[in-house]
Amino acid sequence: MNIVLFGPPAAGKGTQAKIITKAHGFIQLATGDMLRAARASGSDLGKKVAGIMDRGDLVSDEIVIALIEEQLDANKQAPGFIFDGFPRTIAQAKALDASLLARGQHVDSVIRLCVDDNVLTGRVKKRFSEQGRKDDNPKSFKIRLENYNKQTAPLLPFYTKQGKLTEVDGLAEIETVSVSIKAVLDAHIKGGHKPRVSFWKKIFGA
Ligand code: AMP
Repeated sequence: MNIVLFGPPAAGKGTQAKIITKAHGFIQLATGDMLRAARASGSDLGKKVAGIMDRGDLVSDEIVIALIEEQLDANKQAPGFIFDGFPRTIAQAKALDASLLARGQHVDSVIRLCVDDNVLTGRVKKRFSEQGRKDDNPKSFKIRLENYNKQTAPLLPFYTKQGKLTEVDGLAEIETVSVSIKAVLDAHIKGGHKPRVSFWKKIFGA
């Protein structure tokens, strides 16, 4: 099963992806983590993306698509993947569809964590003071949010048209969010899942 965990930066995708992978044995593919690992290793790729990431901009589609393809090939026996922070552009979403199709698979479900911008900004301020992650500084975070709204949010109609998007309340406690996500996955496994978007769409817009 292939799940895309969708949402703005700091919505809690990484936390939830880890909980799901533990429960289902899926593999988490987090492009942000892969890029940070490349930086930490001092590789050419890491050097190339460092400035872009610190500024809060998106690295090129080619780079992240190649990272994902590499992982799909390296984990052929995986029971499923949780895509976390990927795709972030329409080009990436189309590339993911094509990559999975070439492997006889598809995206089964896209789960959007709905969290409003004020909450995100508060969360990131706290994270910046505790962890000092460079791209959490207020200027970079503003750019990250803008990039999300401009380049990533268009994926919502893209996946809605495919009938794959389900929205959950990302403002709830971590455990409550996990329960909501688990309900979506269980319904998929049983084959009775109905995508659900209308409630949050009204509050936050598409
Ligand atoms: P994240 O940890 O997912 O918030 O990602 C941290 C940074 O890595 C982002 O702000 C981007 O600079 C870069 N990045 C991660 N995933 C992607 C992606 N799918 N497309 C482009 N850039 C990405």
